[in-house]
Amino acid sequence: MRHELIIVGAGLAGVALAHALHVDGHAPRVLEARARCGGRILGVDGFDLGPSWVWPTLQPRLAAWITAHGLRSYEQASTGALQFEDADGRMQTYASGMAQEPPSQRLLGGSAALLVPLPALQRAGLIETGVSVRALHLGVEGVDVIAQGSDGTRRLQARRVALALPPRLIAAMAFDPPLPAALHAQLAALPTWMAGQAKFVARYAQPFWRAAGFSGTAFSQRGPIGELHDASLPDGRAALTGFIAWSASMRAACADLPGAIVAQLQRLFGSAAAQPLAVHVQDWALEEFTATPADSAAAPREHPDYAPIVLPEPWRARVLLAGSEVAPDFGGYLEGALQSASAAHAWLSAR
Ligand SMILES: Cc1cc2nc3c(=O)[nH]c(=O)nc-3n(C[C@H](O)[C@H](O)[C@H](O)COP(=O)(O)OP(=O)(O)OC[C@H]3O[C@@H](n4cnc5c(N)ncnc54)[C@H](O)[C@@H]3O)c2cc1C
Repeated sequence: MRHELIIVGAGLAGVALAHALHVDGHAPRVLEARARCGGRILGVDGFDLGPSWVWPTLQPRLAAWITAHGLRSYEQASTGALQFEDADGRMQTYASGMAQEPPSQRLLGGSAALLVPLPALQRAGLIETGVSVRALHLGVEGVDVIAQGSDGTRRLQARRVALALPPRLIAAMAFDPPLPAALHAQLAALPTWMAGQAKFVARYAQPFWRAAGFSGTAFSQRGPIGELHDASLPDGRAALTGFIAWSASMRAACADLPGAIVAQLQRLFGSAAAQPLAVHVQDWALEEFTATPADSAAAPREHPDYAPIVLPEPWRARVLLAGSEVAPDFGGYLEGALQSASAAHAWLSAR
């Protein structure tokens, strides 16, 4: 059987593209390597371990997506004092905190709420998980997609293929005929946004830091946490969340990272931080379907310059790149994932 379109990757970009085509009456086949969908979107009990912030006043596609799917957002809590820890562990408290402009918004239900079309796509039988695409072979009438599943290696055929995943993971696939060396190098060099990072959520019975006048926002030069925020949910469940500043190799060498996180939270907020209900750590650098060794080795300090990438002939007519890192705008962000899906939808609809 030859598929009209195979979408590789069921992160937000792949899901949004599949949703748009499904609404149009098409039945794209979505192949997802992980056992779950969502890609970098990952939550635990409504707390985000991947993306959590959106800026709907700046991000038109996200704003439209939120409205279309009846999602609700709320402002990042930041009222209260900000803590700063220097490299020697000395603490400074800034009473006025830090106001973000525009304020970051969180989504009710976490970022996973953005995946609202998923159940309908799954009910329609369009998504297959646990299938990792390894190679693309260009034929006269389409593309052979070589994929690895639990049942071994499979060869699927499609008239077109949309690659909704980071360029570095695309560079790891085998192309026959090969991509031009310069393009391959360009794809391999593009960092996947946040792929080398680790994030944690520490849940507490009460937001005790608020009662003590702290916002929960903190920055540290000592670590392991580099940046910390209040992640409490509107339903009252309390949590602190943040990014681990230690490199991937330092994280790997740490025998008890959750313990080191809690010890730092105690330095920041006192003994009330000593007894979290749970600490969840997600090290994205260890995720083979997000990060490559290059992402772990060097996390970009600045946001990289992302832009659309179009494959040259003979691939151009058959395979298009989607995914946040090739978005026309807001590359690397959730908005970029939606923009790339929208651009891919327009491209496919025109053919
Ligand atoms: C810790 C962290 C914090 C972030 N914070 C924010 C934030 O606050 N705001 C924001 O806007 N953005 C944030 N981001 C970025 C945001 O998560 C991404 O922009 C967005 O999720 C990208 O979606 P995507 O669909 O393009 O790619 P992905 O989510 O990476 O999806 C790609 C999919 O392809 C699958 N896949 C990979 N290889 C294969 C293969 N060979 N075969 C089949 N499937 C494959 C993957 O499993 C995955 O499901 C953050 C990211 C991280 C990791």
